[in-house]
Amino acid sequence: FSTAATLEEPIAPPVEINYTKLLINGQFVDSASGKTFPTLDPRTEEVIAYIAEGDAEDVNRAVSVARKAFDEGPWPRMSAYERARILLRFADLVEKHSDELAALETWDNGKPYEQAVNAELPMFVRLFHYYAGWADKIHGLTVPADGPHHVQTLHEPIGVTGQIIPWNFPLLMFAWKIGPALATGNTVVLKTAEQTPLTALYVAKLFHEAGLPPGVLNVISGYGPTAGAALASHMDVDKLAFTGSTDTGKIVLELAAKSNLKPVTLELGGKSPFIVCEDADIDKAVEQAHFALFFNQGQCCCAGSRTFVHERIYDEFLEKAKARAWRRTVGDPFKKGVEQGPQIDSEQFEKVLRYIRSGIDSNATLECGGERIGSKGFFIQPTVFSNVKDDMLIAKDEIFGPVQSILKFKGLDEVIKRANATQYGLAAGVYTKNIDTANTLSRGLRAGTVWINCFDVFDAGIPFGGYKMSGIGREKGIYSLKNYLQVKAVVTPLKNPAW
Ligand code: NAD
Repeated sequence: FSTAATLEEPIAPPVEINYTKLLINGQFVDSASGKTFPTLDPRTEEVIAYIAEGDAEDVNRAVSVARKAFDEGPWPRMSAYERARILLRFADLVEKHSDELAALETWDNGKPYEQAVNAELPMFVRLFHYYAGWADKIHGLTVPADGPHHVQTLHEPIGVTGQIIPWNFPLLMFAWKIGPALATGNTVVLKTAEQTPLTALYVAKLFHEAGLPPGVLNVISGYGPTAGAALASHMDVDKLAFTGSTDTGKIVLELAAKSNLKPVTLELGGKSPFIVCEDADIDKAVEQAHFALFFNQGQCCCAGSRTFVHERIYDEFLEKAKARAWRRTVGDPFKKGVEQGPQIDSEQFEKVLRYIRSGIDSNATLECGGERIGSKGFFIQPTVFSNVKDDMLIAKDEIFGPVQSILKFKGLDEVIKRANATQYGLAAGVYTKNIDTANTLSRGLRAGTVWINCFDVFDAGIPFGGYKMSGIGREKGIYSLKNYLQVKAVVTPLKNPAW
């Protein structure tokens, strides 16, 4: 494996940690308990900073100011154009601070700086441009009535929205949730993941610089079973949006149901198939299958974690996939050319290594990798298994790490059946040159996204979400607006029915 030592010097600007407190009502404040928790650098396992630890009392404070900002504040009643202008000013500020934000994201999360600055920050900015564009185009209908009535629908914001996000894409998950919620006039209490609290606090500060009224966006750092659960079960939160594991998704859905029956959207785990047909361009398919799995250290909910390869091209594909994994550059994510940084934390690191051991124990063939790299930091070798069978744990569970499992198939009907034989249904990849094969697979696969001859294309307008236990609802695009809107029917008798 290449190590960072052989690569060029750091490419990111130095960045300071200025925001470590909770953001409530436009002010940075300590937690009510005065407690803090450490956030770690996954490259070194050292503490970056101590962060104010929010729990139920802080969530109460944040929800009450968000309630006030919704009920009394200008935000939901402000002209939609004014709201859009604030979103646009915010996007411009983020663009201006992209280098520091990407550096902070890399520091806290371990993802390659080049990926953060060249892909994730531009996507973040684009997303806010996209939702700013929607703000003044949201409106209801005039409905033809059977009787002498004028009937119209109003599309109104839901109110105070609670949002819980994970650590794998801290900034993008912020954008996917905050963009549609604010464009539609809601107020927000957002709980970040305990592993990655830093960038959300920074961008929330920029939002206030852009003119966001206090109380509209509140950011609580803290743990799931305390702060997260308090938000999910809060009686005054009108809607909950969650991204994370399927197990936690079930917990928050239950908390929402047992409290005030708030509507919940969930974006959960996956075990997405990546299907390489016999007529595929093998070199391109190898590269895309590699990207589909190893991108972001394998920590993607939609990772193509079951690579199904047609038996006729299996041997050639395997050799090339193995060679590509060997070439993957793993090292300090701040260095140029590094494709893979450390896993997020010791828990995920240990979990991935356990799955690798389970693959070996269940007699899958370890083609490359399989070990940790170094003795400090959460680095794992890019790992490829062949001869993977459907009933092995590595083919069934979401590993969330750099472990590619390659399986062999013979026919289309068979591969559709096997690809669908999972509790998940988030995404799928298909490699073929045959349009009929592409159509058969895209119709047959039970997944929220099917990427054909590509993978991980995430434009702001493309909806994303899961079938089955991969989630409820869709984010991005026009589809996520309705998560944040109520429809009100207004019916008025007509004085002169003839009109
Ligand atoms: P998680 O689901 O526990 O955490 C996601 C978010 O939920 C975090 O903000 C966390 O603090 C919060 N949370 C945890 N417990 C909660 C509770 N009881 N009530 C309310 N909120 C709660 O995920 P994790 O432990 O960080 O990762 C575990 C696994 O989840 C990973 O291995 C991976 O399989 C999956 N995961 C999926 C995604 C995704 O994008 N779908 C993202 C991260 C992790």
